[in-house]
Amino acid sequence: MTPDKRKVFAANWKMHQSPTEAVAFLRAFLGGFPSASDRRVLIFPPAVSLHAVVEETKWRPDVGAGVQNFHWVPKGAFTGEISAELARDAGARHALIGHSERRHVFGETDAETGLKVKAALRAGLTPMICVGETLEEREAGETLSVVRRQLRAALEGLEPGIITGTMIAYEPVWAIGSGKTATPQDAAEVHTAVRAGLIELSGGAASAADIPILYGGSVKRDNVAALMAASEVGGVLVGGASLEADHWTQIASA
Ligand code: PEP
Repeated sequence: MTPDKRKVFAANWKMHQSPTEAVAFLRAFLGGFPSASDRRVLIFPPAVSLHAVVEETKWRPDVGAGVQNFHWVPKGAFTGEISAELARDAGARHALIGHSERRHVFGETDAETGLKVKAALRAGLTPMICVGETLEEREAGETLSVVRRQLRAALEGLEPGIITGTMIAYEPVWAIGSGKTATPQDAAEVHTAVRAGLIELSGGAASAADIPILYGGSVKRDNVAALMAASEVGGVLVGGASLEADHWTQIASA
């Protein structure tokens, strides 16, 4: 299969954008964002807005939709949860896994992220696995060991050919929603380590060099170009600045 080398611009809407707001947003955004062969856009809306996003973007092959969270069991008595299979049937093609708010607000463990990666793959969703260190871990010099541990927990035991079908987002926890961004040099250092980890975990498979590694953490229209230019940065995962159509259009056009 030819590797997809397009840049990835991913919007994590968190608990924002109702179905009505999502439609208005997408009409404004897509009107000012023509398709281009070098990039793709992924929108991660709240689950209740997934259908609206899928319907509004179905004419644009360069725009896809995903879920922010799901349970790893395919179906059952789990009131309030959705499964990867339900999300796939509703039109999702991607899934965020291990976002720092899931890990640090909802107590999601490394082991659970591993279960979710397998569940997403089982259902035909491309996992976007989020990894990143807290400020405390960074100050203790543990950034690379934390990121390697999270990566290993998410991917260990998968066939090399399966690992190469995933995406990674490096999101330092201290940079999310804080207005503080990693420098392009910091991002490049961690992304290079993530790339090495991916190659190792996929048994040296050459195609591990094509797995997209996104940077996330207070990306804005005025810092996106510098971050995208850093070594091994293949895209960005954006929270706050993806909520306003004009800002998002500028970011996804970088
Ligand atoms: C995120 O939620 O993944 C994120 C990166 O948020 P923000 O861009 O607001 O820091």
